[in-house]
This record gives sequence, C-alpha cells and structure tokens, in this order.
Amino acid sequence: MTERKNIAIMGAGLVGSLLSLYLAKHGHKIDLYERRSDLRVSTIDGGRSINLALSDRGWRALKGIGIEEEVRKVAIPMYGRIMHDEQGKLTHQPYGKEGQAIYSVSRGGLNTALMNLSESNSDITYHFNRQAIDVNLRENEVQLRNITTGETETIKPDLLFGADGAYSAVRGAMQKTERFDYQQSYLEYGYKELTIPATADGGWAIEKNALHIWPRGNYMMIALPNPDGSFTCTLFFPYEGEHSFAAIKNEEDLLAFFNRVFPDAVPLMPELAQEYFENPVGALVTVKCFPWSYEGKSLLIGDASHAVVPFYGQGMNAGFEDITVLDQMLENFEGDNWEELFHAFEHRRKPNADAIADLAVLNFEEMRDKVADPRFLLRKKIENKISGQYPEKWIPLYTMVTFTDLPYSYALETGQKQDKIMKKVMKHIQSIEDYDRPEVQQLLEKQLVQKEKLK
Ligand code: FAD
Repeated sequence: MTERKNIAIMGAGLVGSLLSLYLAKHGHKIDLYERRSDLRVSTIDGGRSINLALSDRGWRALKGIGIEEEVRKVAIPMYGRIMHDEQGKLTHQPYGKEGQAIYSVSRGGLNTALMNLSESNSDITYHFNRQAIDVNLRENEVQLRNITTGETETIKPDLLFGADGAYSAVRGAMQKTERFDYQQSYLEYGYKELTIPATADGGWAIEKNALHIWPRGNYMMIALPNPDGSFTCTLFFPYEGEHSFAAIKNEEDLLAFFNRVFPDAVPLMPELAQEYFENPVGALVTVKCFPWSYEGKSLLIGDASHAVVPFYGQGMNAGFEDITVLDQMLENFEGDNWEELFHAFEHRRKPNADAIADLAVLNFEEMRDKVADPRFLLRKKIENKISGQYPEKWIPLYTMVTFTDLPYSYALETGQKQDKIMKKVMKHIQSIEDYDRPEVQQLLEKQLVQKEKLK
C-alpha cells in the first residue's frame, strides 16, 4: 500500500480528467486546475462541435473506469473510409475486418462525461479559471492565476501532473532544467473546421458510418459524423502557395476553389463562406521531449509530453493509453519511490510516443495523396488477403495501431518490414485475382519466412 498523496493535475482536458479518476482509484486526493471555465456551464470554442476518432486503446482506458458503455451510446461507429474524387465518385475502404470500427465522439461530450463521473468522487475537486503561470519544479510549487479575478495563489502538492496539453506550462518549466531534450516541429499545413449540417429531416447528408475523405494530392478535407445528423469537416490546407489559406482572400476565391475541387460537398455546406472566414486556422505541431518527470515530484502526460499531428486519430488514444500503463504500474507499486516509478513509466512510453508521432506524419501522406490512387487501394486489398491467409504472421499496420494494444514502436517497425514485402509482391499484381497465382504465393511464403527469421 502506498501513502495517500495530495496530487495536483494541471489541465482538465481529456487526459487530465481521465487521469484524476484513475489516481483517485489508487487512493489519492486530486485537485485539477483548468485555465478555461467549466465547459458544462459555458460554451467554449464558440460552440463548434469538434469530434474525435476513438479507437481500441482509448476504449480500454474508458472501460477501466466503467464509462465505456455510456460513451458507446453516443459514439458513432465508422467502419471505413469513403473517398470522394473530384467528380464526386465514391470509393470505400474498410478499416479492418468486418465489424471493426473507429468511433466518432464529441470532444466536449466525452470531457463532460469524465467530469460528471469525477464529481461523484469526493476525492476529486475541479478548479476552473485557474491558469498555471509559474512552476517551481524543485519546490513543487505552482503559481496559479485566477482568470476571473486576476488574483494569484500558490499551491504545493505532494505530486504534480502536467496534463496541460501541447503548450504545457509544466513542460515549459522542465525545459529550463539541465539536459532536458526538446523538439517541436510544425507542418506547413493548418486546419480549419467547417460543417455539413443535418438534412431537413434530421438525417445525415452523406453515409453516416464512415470517415469521409476528399484527398487532393497536397491537401485534403475530411468529415466525421455527429449524433445530431451533422458532420464536422476539417480542411487540412497549406498556409502558403497556389492552393492555400493565403491564396483564398474572399468569398469569390473560396467558392471558385471549393466548387472546382470539392463539388459534391459544396451544396451540402450552406454556411461554407461564413464559417470559412470566421473559424480560426489551427496549427499542427509535433512535440517530442525527454525526460517526462522531475525528481519523482512531477510528471508530464498526454499531449504535454507527446503532441502528435492528428492523421492517425491517435493523440487522445495515446494519452489514454499512458493512463492505462500508469495504472498497471500503480497496481504493482509499493513503497514511496515515485522517482523510480516515473522513470520506469517514461522509459516504457517514450519509444511508443515517438513511433506514433512518426506514424501520424506518414499517415498524412497516405490520406491526402495515396488513398486516391487505385494501385494503393489494390495493395490494401491484397494486404487484407495476406492477413486473412496468415492471421498469425501478418497484421496490417493500421490494424496494429488502431485495433490492438501492440506497442506503437512494434507497429512502426513491423509495418516497415511489411512495406518492403508489399513492394516486392505488388510487382506481380495487376488485379486482385493475381493474388492466387503460384509465383505470388511462393514469393509471399519466402518473404514471410525471412520476416520470421528477422524477428
Ligand atoms: P488537451 O486536450 O490539450 O487538454 C489540455 C488542457 O489543459 C486544456 O483543457 C487546457 O485548457 C488546459 N491548460 C493548458 N495550459 C494550462 C495552464 N497553463 N494552466 C491550466 N490549464 C491549462 N486524437 C485522437 O485520438 N483522435 C482524433 O481523431 C483526433 N483528432 C484531432 C484533430 C485535431 C484537429 C487535433 C488538433 C487533434 C486531434 N487529436 C485526436 C488529438 C487530441 O486532441 C489530443 O491528443 C488530446 O486532446 C490530448 O489531450 P490532453 O488532455 O493531453 O491535452
């Protein structure tokens, strides 16, 4: 049994809120400090409905605190991608085996569900409108500014968790300590959210149970369904260049461009111009850093330690998996050596955080560019055939990342080996029927034996 600690969590986003429930389960007293107001009583982000793809790693963490079923009731399964070409022609690509899906959930709705669950726990207290403005890691003191009154207060918890996102103040303090590695990189793309509203009878204007993609080479738009019949669309677009945010200066430019490249979407977006010019452009950042802890007194978690670009739909899922892993470690934790525990945690998670960061950037290329290529889609079908024939030896990369809890680093490494094999196999494939040709089968068997030997 470990001693009960007074723990402060900076940031009551998805990761901070879920973390509080797990830490309370282990007998600790939790105070969460969130710079924003309570999203349950005031609308933030201008009321935009932002949704996220939740997959197996995330579900596992929600199940661990008994909230899986409640979230499932409002989550919309997306069984595959639907690609929209420039003529409005559609192509389907399943995400996994039949019945496997990723789920569209509302960020605000999920955060609210986690907060409501915490409220029934007397060991968890939320403090809204409190921004961490100064963190003294050595003393474990945090200076907080009350956003409403402007007053400041200083807290001194036993343990401090930085769940304050990609621009973490806790990490900011760690950056000033000796031998702290830090790397931040931005894509030359930003994102803007737009809407396809529900139809007049409250239904979905396009297929509900899919993630829609309009892949256009060096940019793309995607759409995820919401329970109210609408879709939240996200345009991923270069900041500069011929086709870019900078190039669209007025409504005329916007409509000319959208009508040309997204012709089937435009009639479904009546508020397009207003939303386009009102909604902000968000930046896409990857953050890698190490270590994630300081002297056994503070620990970074979620985006604060590993912000990734959103193209694998794994940022939140990876943050939730951090919590599952920490929970497993706390189950076996005896004594009071938090320094050792935090070191074990950060060493276990860091290679996986780096791997999902790299996979997310690679998946951007796949989504905006390759999914429009018939050869690529044929290759995916062939890969599904291989994994059907050799289920023990071949799990497709997307499946490993999305539908298993295999370490992300293992998925990345195995995916690279599989990619080499697929390049060789595809030289012999012109159509799906070619898969059964003896030379293809022989080549595959030989390659799989070599892959096993390399393990
Ligand atoms: P955050 O959600 O950023 O929460 C941090 C909290 O800390 C916030 O509430 C913030 O107000 C608070 N805070 C910040 N600074 C301070 C401070 N100084 N003092 C007090 N409070 C502070 N992930 C997926 O898994 N699936 C997806 O489909 C997906 N889609 C995405 C789409 C987009 C466009 C983007 C940008 C991201 C997407 N992600 C997705 C990633 C996901 O949003 C993040 O990984 C997730 O929100 C991380 O949760 P977090 O709690 O660590 O950080």
